[in-house]
Amino acid sequence: MNKLQEKAEPLELGLYIHVPFCARSCDFCHFYQEPPKRSDLNTYLDGMDIAMGKNPPPRIAGTAFWGGGTPGLLSAKDLERLCKTMVRSNYGVVPKEWSIEMAPATVKKDKIRILKDQGVSRISMGVQSFQPGLLDALGRVHSLEQVERSIELLKTEGWDNFNLDMIFAIPGQTLKMWEQDLDAVIQAGPMHISTYCLTFEEDTALWVRLQKGQVQRHTVEDEARFHELTWEKLAQAGYEQYEVSNFAKKGYACRHNLDTWRMQEWVGYGPSASSQLGIRRWTEPHSIDEWLAGLRDGRTKLTEEVQLTPNILAQDYLIFGLRMNAGVDLVDWESRFGESPIKGWEPFKTTLLEEGLAKSEGTRLWLTDSGRLVADRIGEEVLGLE
Ligand code: SF4
Repeated sequence: MNKLQEKAEPLELGLYIHVPFCARSCDFCHFYQEPPKRSDLNTYLDGMDIAMGKNPPPRIAGTAFWGGGTPGLLSAKDLERLCKTMVRSNYGVVPKEWSIEMAPATVKKDKIRILKDQGVSRISMGVQSFQPGLLDALGRVHSLEQVERSIELLKTEGWDNFNLDMIFAIPGQTLKMWEQDLDAVIQAGPMHISTYCLTFEEDTALWVRLQKGQVQRHTVEDEARFHELTWEKLAQAGYEQYEVSNFAKKGYACRHNLDTWRMQEWVGYGPSASSQLGIRRWTEPHSIDEWLAGLRDGRTKLTEEVQLTPNILAQDYLIFGLRMNAGVDLVDWESRFGESPIKGWEPFKTTLLEEGLAKSEGTRLWLTDSGRLVADRIGEEVLGLE
């Protein structure tokens, strides 16, 4: 921990585990993943034993998040092994909040029972849509039947704390179709819902189709209407928005993500996992073999490594903080990163307030609905401030 980080209160450490396997690549996805070959799975699990055994987190982590890839693709036995590896390295302590991402096709009774036994507290499932045509448009491998069966199974097995991920602004999707999806996800009754506006990432199958003119993206005005409908319907159904894309019943916001967005520290394990600790932020190699070789000979070739400065952390605190409905506490910001850590901030803040994109009260500043609709643009502008 360094001076930059030690002022953060409360200083909860997060653990991130990356499981880089997917049955096949979804058309919109740009994350690093591999097909689940048995030999690679064994290499990965052996590597996790080495990584977490050799370099345990510097102190007990209070939250954990397993993402990917598809962590749920691991067998029940492999999940149990990885759970035990993680808890052992976390000084034998089960994190208070422990989320695992699962694709609907991977939710099986034996797996979710083992996860519960090991202390996992939250399952996050990438549903994306309840409409078969839209699932096809996204290249998702699961069917509507698998979505419905997995939600039912989670409920009958006593998992009330689960999240469903949804995507909107899919080519061909009308506002009416999105409204039907929102009705379906509300009807499913999760404690947490994430809704993401589809992005076209370079070199994904969807991006290639866009370049060839085979699909059309929605306009910015359309996207705003999708957002507004989402906010209205989820609020009516009792889901409180706490970030541009995240909604939860009272008390069910994802603590791990909140801590990350507040620029707390986290340690990531696994190929392509990122960490932020002390004055460093880094990303592990995007290849199982390179990652394992680095673990064995101690000379990991990191994909990315950044020496954090007060300016970088102060900017990221604003970018992520302004996406949250609670906004940012400017006194906390200055006390952590120094007085006026970004020179151009004051005039920029005044413009946000004058244009009705933000509001402030006391030490807090948050985006209005209009501001939240252009949160990406505001983030880019904060990044450009000196
Ligand atoms: S399951 Fe998730 S990580 Fe895997 S390809 Fe699909 S979106 Fe990407």
